[in-house]
Amino acid sequence: MSSARPSYSIDPRYRAKSCDERIKFLVLHYTAGSFETSLDTLTNGEVSAHYLVPDKMVGADENVIYNLVDENRRAYHAGVSYWRGRTSLNDTSIGIEIVNLGYTDDASGKRTWYPFTDYQIDLVIGVSKDIIARYGIDPICVVGHNDIAPGRKPDPGPLFPWEKLAKNGIGAWPDADVAREIQGKLNDDVDINALQASLKKYGYNIQTTGELDQQTKDVITAFNRHFISIDSDEPSLKMRATLEALIVKYLPSKKIVSQAKQEKKLLNEEVDDFVWVSHSDTRLAPKLFRPSVTTHAQTQTQHSDHRISASPMAN
Ligand SMILES: [Zn+2]
Repeated sequence: MSSARPSYSIDPRYRAKSCDERIKFLVLHYTAGSFETSLDTLTNGEVSAHYLVPDKMVGADENVIYNLVDENRRAYHAGVSYWRGRTSLNDTSIGIEIVNLGYTDDASGKRTWYPFTDYQIDLVIGVSKDIIARYGIDPICVVGHNDIAPGRKPDPGPLFPWEKLAKNGIGAWPDADVAREIQGKLNDDVDINALQASLKKYGYNIQTTGELDQQTKDVITAFNRHFISIDSDEPSLKMRATLEALIVKYLPSKKIVSQAKQEKKLLNEEVDDFVWVSHSDTRLAPKLFRPSVTTHAQTQTQHSDHRISASPMAN
């Protein structure tokens, strides 16, 4: 005897105020392959993304972006990752794969990066604007794969036009005059502890060791590719000034520049206390959500996940 299905009804008339979007991040990638190989890997392989943006018209598909995974499903594009206190960003992000060959190294070790096409950047701008608006994604939570997996993934690389995206309302970009002013006050004497604290405050996964160690060089490289458009692990004056200008603009709770050293301890604690507040969500009580995340839980695990690392491309 099978039991009868219990009967019930759902009544949505009482709605809770305390809720927000599951999607917090937009992650941009390059595919390191042609359109055909990218499409094959992303539809048949162990990696995927919500959107695939071709480098040029595909057949008669003018201005077409391919939606490989519905936005309410989880795509496997980020792998082992971290940003602003969150790990495993596949859970909380939309991923866009952009067709681009990545880079080649010649015999002497000189690296050449492939440029993106205006055609595809216009498509990326269009789809990103809508995704950001749909979920109220914070500018500093629009990131490259390299930002969330430094040392493990290089994409979308130093030629990706982040500044052009920012001019179109997508992602973070510093005010040039503020960065210049900050740079004028810096000298070549780098306080690595303070630099690590600032990188961590901005969102990167970095331990404060006081050493210019490999994890720090990896994060500086990610930052330089994103904001300085160069492939370098040097903490240049421009790099350090740009980082502080970003913090001033997007995380203005503290007067950073001159007091950065004194506030080092405070800066560290702030990241741990990070509160998720969507800029667009003014209806909600702003300090309601305090996830119990541990920012130190994630160590450098670039090579620990063989399944995730298996693909040269997306994950
Ligand atoms: Zn990627």
